[in-house]
Amino acid sequence: MKERDYLLKIIDNDKNIRVFLARTTSLVEEAHQRHCTSATASAALGRVMTAAVMMGGDLKGQEDILTLRVNGNGVAGTVLATADSHGSVRGLISNPYADLPSSSPGKLAVGELVGTDGYLEVIKDLGLKQPFTGKVALVSGEIAEDLAQYFAMSEQIPSLVALGVLVNTDLSIQTAGGLFVQALPGARDESLEIIENNIMNMGPISAVLNRYDSLEDILPILMKELQYTVVGEQDLSFRCNCSKERMLNVLSSLSDDDLGGSLGDEELEVVCNQCRQRYTFDGQEIAALRKAKP
Ligand code: ZN
Repeated sequence: MKERDYLLKIIDNDKNIRVFLARTTSLVEEAHQRHCTSATASAALGRVMTAAVMMGGDLKGQEDILTLRVNGNGVAGTVLATADSHGSVRGLISNPYADLPSSSPGKLAVGELVGTDGYLEVIKDLGLKQPFTGKVALVSGEIAEDLAQYFAMSEQIPSLVALGVLVNTDLSIQTAGGLFVQALPGARDESLEIIENNIMNMGPISAVLNRYDSLEDILPILMKELQYTVVGEQDLSFRCNCSKERMLNVLSSLSDDDLGGSLGDEELEVVCNQCRQRYTFDGQEIAALRKAKP
């Protein structure tokens, strides 16, 4: 049994690079079960959720929220994940059942499923008047490469990004996780070259995560020839912020027309699109809702 989902933050002692390394197997499995995703859709959604929850680990404020949205006009539709600064993440994919045959053995066709005719967007709600938004054109639709492009273009941070999801033949998630390596201001090229080499020698991130029980076991290989310190650790989980009360608030803000006349006297079922949780409202609750409407 592999360890729980968590994120490690590491800085080399010469302060040239910082590294985020995460295992997200359980939260991607939960997303797969909740959304009934195909193998390739699990990989696409899992990569986006992994990236979002890792970026969430960099948010400073207690209430800060980060959304990562990818749409490349492929059959996947929109792939979206929302994370907070406490390690919680939720997500959705427009077409969870969509799948494509893999182009090469052992590799799911995520780039093809997502497409490349579109954008990767990052929206950070930091409690200010306007959320911060960054947007880059997709490079490959494979997510990791696209995110590296985002870090370089929108945040001016040279980064290496690896994201991986291994799916079993029964569609359950074998392993999921990610790796960010970012150059700190004034970083020496040598340190960057060393870690780039280490990563190349390690092989694909999903295989590495699959091989070791704990993230700490991977560090000596990843950080070989570099002195480093683990500066942070955070538990990660799938968690949605929906509730019956929140759903009621949404319903009460919609007009009867918006609801397509569905607000009858009968029971009404509402499903949260980010976690597929069902909420039912009985006749009495609907009557109260109608009364409360202006
Ligand atoms: Zn929900």
